Amino acid sequence: MNSEKEKILNQPVQFIKSVGPKRAESFGKIGINTIRDLLFYFPSRHLDRTTTLNVSKAYDFLIDGFNGEITIVGKVVEKKKLNFGRKELLKVQMRDATGFFECVWFQGIKYFYNVFNAGEIFAVSGKPVISKYKALQFTHPDFDRITEDESNSLLNTGKIIPFYRIPKELRVGNIGDFSLRKIINTTVENYADNLDETLPEELLKENNIAGLVDSIKNFHFPESKEKLNTAIQRFKFEELFYLELLVALRKFNYKTKLSGNSMRVKTNLISSFLKILPFKLTEAQLRVLSEIRKDMESQLPMNRLLQGDVGSGKTIVALIAMLIAVDNGFQAVLMAPTEILADQHAKNISILLKNLSGICKEKEIKLSLLIGGQKKSVKEKNLEDIEFNEADIVVGTHALFEEKVKFKNLGLVIVDEQHRFGVEQRGKLQNKGIMPDVLVMSATPIPRTLTMTVYGDLDVSIINEMPKERKPIKTIMRGENSLPDIYKYIVDKVKEGYQSFIVYPLVEESEKLELKAAETYYKKLSETFLKEINVGLLHGRMSWQEKEEVMLMFLAKKYDALIATTVIEVGIDIPDANIIVINDAQRFGLSQLHQLRGRIGRGTKQGYCILVTKEEFAASSNKYKLNLDYLSPVQLEKYRSTVRLQAMVNFLDGFKIAEIDLKLRGPGNIFGTEQSGFPELKHADLINDTQLIIRAKTAAFALIENDPHFQEENHYIIKKNLLEHYSHSLNYAKIA
Ligand code: ADP
Ligand code: MG
Repeated sequence: MNSEKEKILNQPVQFIKSVGPKRAESFGKIGINTIRDLLFYFPSRHLDRTTTLNVSKAYDFLIDGFNGEITIVGKVVEKKKLNFGRKELLKVQMRDATGFFECVWFQGIKYFYNVFNAGEIFAVSGKPVISKYKALQFTHPDFDRITEDESNSLLNTGKIIPFYRIPKELRVGNIGDFSLRKIINTTVENYADNLDETLPEELLKENNIAGLVDSIKNFHFPESKEKLNTAIQRFKFEELFYLELLVALRKFNYKTKLSGNSMRVKTNLISSFLKILPFKLTEAQLRVLSEIRKDMESQLPMNRLLQGDVGSGKTIVALIAMLIAVDNGFQAVLMAPTEILADQHAKNISILLKNLSGICKEKEIKLSLLIGGQKKSVKEKNLEDIEFNEADIVVGTHALFEEKVKFKNLGLVIVDEQHRFGVEQRGKLQNKGIMPDVLVMSATPIPRTLTMTVYGDLDVSIINEMPKERKPIKTIMRGENSLPDIYKYIVDKVKEGYQSFIVYPLVEESEKLELKAAETYYKKLSETFLKEINVGLLHGRMSWQEKEEVMLMFLAKKYDALIATTVIEVGIDIPDANIIVINDAQRFGLSQLHQLRGRIGRGTKQGYCILVTKEEFAASSNKYKLNLDYLSPVQLEKYRSTVRLQAMVNFLDGFKIAEIDLKLRGPGNIFGTEQSGFPELKHADLINDTQLIIRAKTAAFALIENDPHFQEENHYIIKKNLLEHYSHSLNYAKIA
């Protein structure tokens, strides 16, 4: 490390020409204190002015058959909203010194109408066409509002121009687009060369990755589109490489610690159990079971993620794994995210165990339930059972984390619905045994790129098949005006043995309000539309025992419909509930909607999921299909809820839904990552950068395999970076 260079980079931003005390203070407010910080303040996007054309040139290009992207800088002449039947469009007329052109929008009209005002100057980019009225026309173009000054200087440059985020702290300090671009330009020119490379040379070479200094320069002020791309690739690669290093370290630590338990699987254990089941396991369940079984037999501890869409039958697989552990004299624990679900698991398991007596082990298998809100005496008895090996199978919730829960001989940990638990919690439970086998179950389908990255320390099993006799659920979207018909449908269907859920979004303002809202819905419906049938109520103010009581009544068909203001608990299984009405559906997240829909269609009857939303919203959403691939970020923001509802109507497959959800949330905001203990990604995109992920992963895993303690000289830099920038994530993956 050259400390002279370091010193220079660590100088305060005020050293930079045209940054005075006031500007320095503004920079400080957004965390930019040193010259180095400024070098790493990257543009949020670029505008390619290499093909900036005037209107007349552009026209010639198009006539010659050019169909690439171009930019035209022009002034707004006028804007018009036009109607075609019931459709509306926005047309903005613009001009430059050589002629006119127009921009049109079919969506987001209100928004764009307010953006474009006569006299303002915009740089408009896209692939224009010549319309049938011979106008040069952009459809849904990218654009930037620019000043007169800028338009002159930009026009002449023919370069790729960076655009930086300018938070209000900077604006207040009199730093705008133009001045920031200038300040950063000076900084890059004068100081970028002082940066030391943060990746080993040979790694750069092998993976064809550009060096840091070059990449910094080209990220800010690209010499060409290719150079910009190369620079972006470098930062993506670096980020992914360090992420994968953390994953590889975790896995390395896990696999090389004390070896785990090697269990024996008696051949007749599983087959006898399968005989007492009322159904046949699916091919997928059997395959997953054999993967788990191999892990349990192996001396290495199992560390496996079991993925399967809601209703695919994960619980039964988990139970068989627990039986194997118990049969080998170990305790097994199943952790659920909520009390009511833990309780349901316990009930189902004990029913199965009753039929099983005599098959497995000489003595009867004992099950113990450990959840919050239990009577003190019950809890103490349970704790004792667990500590002295009276309990073979323990089912519980977060209560299992408590210090005082001690296992005699914990051999298997199963975590259900894992996205609710963090890695840290998983680790805590794991530490209650001596390298127990761990199976993590998730009903939220995780796209493959994510399982490769953030969950890369786990082996993955997937149940990709639903039990055969299931009918695909029908999902429809309706306006609120249809509610009376929907209620009538619910009442009619009771004769066919159907039960229904009616869900309202959680009103979060206050608990009192929630209670009131719940009771109002309940009272109103049970006295009017639903007065001929029995209606139950489930809300967030109930204790889990009360909730459970309601669910049991519903299960026993004492209720025909259940009004729920709280999200019906994940995993709850009511075979005859085959209609779910989701009110104000636009207010739910996509994975939440999918989970809710997963509550129905578990038996053999046709399931119906009815999404209810505002009348106009439902009408337009049913009519205009949005294509995610063609929406700009601004449009995505605006149409988020429409996209969610349309995804629900169009897709049943949880993986597809998860992919769309991921697109909607954006790469920086992925479920699970914040809990995974990994840093957030700034550059890479876990959905689209698959190739780069694979390369980074290969490189990182190879490095840890060869030099897990970073002892080679050219790996010091990696160790230093890990300790400096990733110390939080290292908590779970200690460097030797
Ligand atoms: P999830 O994967 O959401 O946890 P469950 O394990 O709760 O799903 O299973 C959903 C329902 O399907 C349960 O009622 C379960 O008994 C039933 N089930 C599981 N496997 C099968 C199968 N192979 N055939 C028919 N029904 C099954
Ligand atoms: Mg489940």
